Amino acid sequence: MEKIINIDKAKLILKKGDITQEDTQAIVNAANPTLLGGGGVDGAIHSKGGTQILQECKKIRETLYPEGLPTGEAVITTGGNLKANYVIHTVGPICEKGLLDKDKENLLRKAYLNSLKLAKEKGIKTIAFPSISTGAYRCPLNESAKTALKTVIEFLKKENYIQEVRFVLFTDEIFKVYAKALEEIDV
Ligand code: ADP
Repeated sequence: MEKIINIDKAKLILKKGDITQEDTQAIVNAANPTLLGGGGVDGAIHSKGGTQILQECKKIRETLYPEGLPTGEAVITTGGNLKANYVIHTVGPICEKGLLDKDKENLLRKAYLNSLKLAKEKGIKTIAFPSISTGAYRCPLNESAKTALKTVIEFLKKENYIQEVRFVLFTDEIFKVYAKALEEIDV
């Protein structure tokens, strides 16, 4: 299951898969503010990536974010044992009532945008995202997919640096929602 479109000179790819297997230069982790691991994609990245990632996350907590990483911000570590050289850790919003209101939408946008900006700063040209905030953080899949795709497309249109963005979606259902959302967006 894969869908590829061109945005100027860059490729936007939707695929079904496990993000810990991706060979992009960076993969993005839907982390929580502690940066110390958790369930879902976060747990999978730390378990496959090994302890080096956790050590670097602890250092970031001690030096830069003693109170935890604020929602919408992003930080970077190496990829440990993963194929990817880097992991970008970002924190999406929590949708307590399952609603993506304006505030939450902005925070979700920021999580994608700050991850992309950080990638560019670090010379990363290929990056993979999971569907941030749509698991344990309970944001609605369809709206969150639209926000995710719009944010990435806007960035790729404006910035010429990143060559490939992959959305690595864990199930058929999530893939289908993203594919439909992409069809509905004016690219
Ligand atoms: P959040 O707390 O931001 O909601 P979750 O990890 O709970 O993060 O869920 C985000 C998305 O990641 C969900 O769609 C979930 O199905 C998906 N997911 C879980 N494990 C993986 C994985 N190994 N690769 C890609 N996506 C994954």
